[in-house]
Amino acid sequence: MKGLDPKPATLSSGDPVLVEVKIIDTTPDPFSGKMGSYILVSPDGEAAMIDSGPKTSWSRVGEEIRSMGVRLKYVILTHIHLDHASAAGSIVRSLETVEAVFVHPRGARHMADPERLWQASKQFLGDYADFFGKPEPVPENKIVVPGDGEVLELFEGVRLHVIYTPGHASHHMSFYLPEGNIMFTGDSAGVSLQDDDGTLIEFPTTPPPFKPVEYVNSLEAMARFRPERLAFAHYGVRGEGMEYLRWHREDIIRWIREAVEYVSRGGGDAEELMRLLADKLENAGKAYRAKNPIISEFMYRGTILGLLDTAIRGEWKRLHF
Ligand SMILES: [Zn+2]
Repeated sequence: MKGLDPKPATLSSGDPVLVEVKIIDTTPDPFSGKMGSYILVSPDGEAAMIDSGPKTSWSRVGEEIRSMGVRLKYVILTHIHLDHASAAGSIVRSLETVEAVFVHPRGARHMADPERLWQASKQFLGDYADFFGKPEPVPENKIVVPGDGEVLELFEGVRLHVIYTPGHASHHMSFYLPEGNIMFTGDSAGVSLQDDDGTLIEFPTTPPPFKPVEYVNSLEAMARFRPERLAFAHYGVRGEGMEYLRWHREDIIRWIREAVEYVSRGGGDAEELMRLLADKLENAGKAYRAKNPIISEFMYRGTILGLLDTAIRGEWKRLHF
């Protein structure tokens, strides 16, 4: 399997160019290259943004969008976790060109009134909630809830397919762009990113309440589009999309199986499971020992907590191992 392009190039659709896809680094200071949004730009400068990124990055990201000279029309959220969506309200407030914020039906009311989302995030994430920032409300008249399978006509001739992909979160959507044969996976297919020393790390992100059956079904729903490229929120675009999806499907089963075996032996401690998986699975070891704390503390710890919760609740029993 090839590694991902550390600084993804512009992906053009061939000739004539209908849309350009660019990545903007939305990782809050002082870090970089751990979370990103994708900007889709039409030839006459209209733009759509997949994920708003964290609110704490918005002033810098907003400057970058302004310097691109585009008119941002749409903000399209993969899901409402703070690292993906907490800037959405601020974007609508600061850019009057934004006509709509697209969000899953289960996330819509939390975008309109983010107080409960914020409280729940503070409880689960602790200091990381402040690292991403408290969301401002998105005006209700700007919220649009697309259906599963709906096709959004973003710009003339440019269509984006909406795929509900629950599992990582109940309110997760992925998006398929035929130009460039690219799937925007958000967090529905794990992460594929580089540690600070350049090591490529690819592993599942499964915070509680993780739903393993829905997660695997979502991988299959995305594979039906046969994407060549996968655009990860964490972080960047990789090729060999189908090979990756197949590998990741097997990988998530391996991780779940380890957690289930641990719990069946009477285990119930997240720290212990973090170490145990790191010893058994190569990619878990890389995540556990990552130099960057966003990977080792925020992502890997969240994954282990979700797997432990799933194993204890017996959620995995509907999975065919
Ligand atoms: Zn995320």
